[in-house]
Amino acid sequence: MTKNAIDIKGLTKIYKGQGGSEDKLALKGIDLEIPRGSMFGLLGPNGAGKSTTINILAGLVNKTDGTASIWGFDIDQNPRNARANIGIVPQELMFDAFFTPREMLEVQAGLYGVPKSERRTDELLKAVHLHDKADAYSRSLSGGMKRRLLVAKALVHNPPVLVLDEPTAGVDIELRQQLWDYVRELHARGTTVVLTTHYLEEAEELCDTIAIINHGEVVCCEPTGQLLKRIDEKEIVITVSDSLDAIPAPLARFKSSLRDSHHIGVQISQADANVGEVLAAVQAAGLTITDIATDETDLEDIFLQLTSSRDKVA
Ligand code: ADP
Ligand code: MG
Repeated sequence: MTKNAIDIKGLTKIYKGQGGSEDKLALKGIDLEIPRGSMFGLLGPNGAGKSTTINILAGLVNKTDGTASIWGFDIDQNPRNARANIGIVPQELMFDAFFTPREMLEVQAGLYGVPKSERRTDELLKAVHLHDKADAYSRSLSGGMKRRLLVAKALVHNPPVLVLDEPTAGVDIELRQQLWDYVRELHARGTTVVLTTHYLEEAEELCDTIAIINHGEVVCCEPTGQLLKRIDEKEIVITVSDSLDAIPAPLARFKSSLRDSHHIGVQISQADANVGEVLAAVQAAGLTITDIATDETDLEDIFLQLTSSRDKVA
């Protein structure tokens, strides 16, 4: 029995071009293992293939090739069990505007065969702060309320895995915080949470594991802390009292650049990090150091680094 909440292997999607337009290879055979109990971030720029991946899991998009299983159930061989174990909040805010939130949750519970005695409609509406809107027309809800209603809808059958596709789109900051508080609470109570985002801060702040996806390929997948450590380029900026018009010869063997006449930037990778060597070289050049500063590595740098190196290969 797999320990993963979701296992994806060789997942490929080609959207067939219509009316003479080109086919689109949206997923190029991705592999992804999402551990049970994790708070997992699928991070990537627009068009990377995040929603395609999620929508295949949701049964909304047919894959072209590869396999996917949810909680150990293959989506082709065991679609009912696969679907019973996942709740998905889609990126698009699509639902029937003539249902009230209460009706919507009841209908959804019916679709999943949840017996009336086990329904948690009121509890869910309270949890997403929509209890006072329980009987309002859904079309009168704001974007943020709709998003929260969709979260409640994804949870009616009490799935062990909750997937949120770009959950903060159109949600204002205060409500976003409420949404995250609730998602964190669900996670603390044992729900595996997967969220897609193109906001780096969001993934960095919330997720214990991050996969970066770009142009339909998984670029990396690892614990957030390890990802931060592994990606190594750090720049130190050395201020010298001397006035320079070129990089001094002893520094030529480092990746260095002259920022202005008094500042030298040197790229240091943690793998062969040796700030001492760099400083020795500066002194060997006969310069007087007045200050040293480093630019901290954050996910944004990592993201740019990974995606730009891929761009060059493609
Ligand atoms: P993301 O969610 O990461 O922004 P998507 O999975 O929505 O990315 O899209 C991946 C790629 O597939 C994009 O190039 C997008 O234009 C294309 N795509 C998505 N849906 C369709 C569709 N229904 N038909 C054709 N191309 C699509
Ligand atoms: Mg998307």
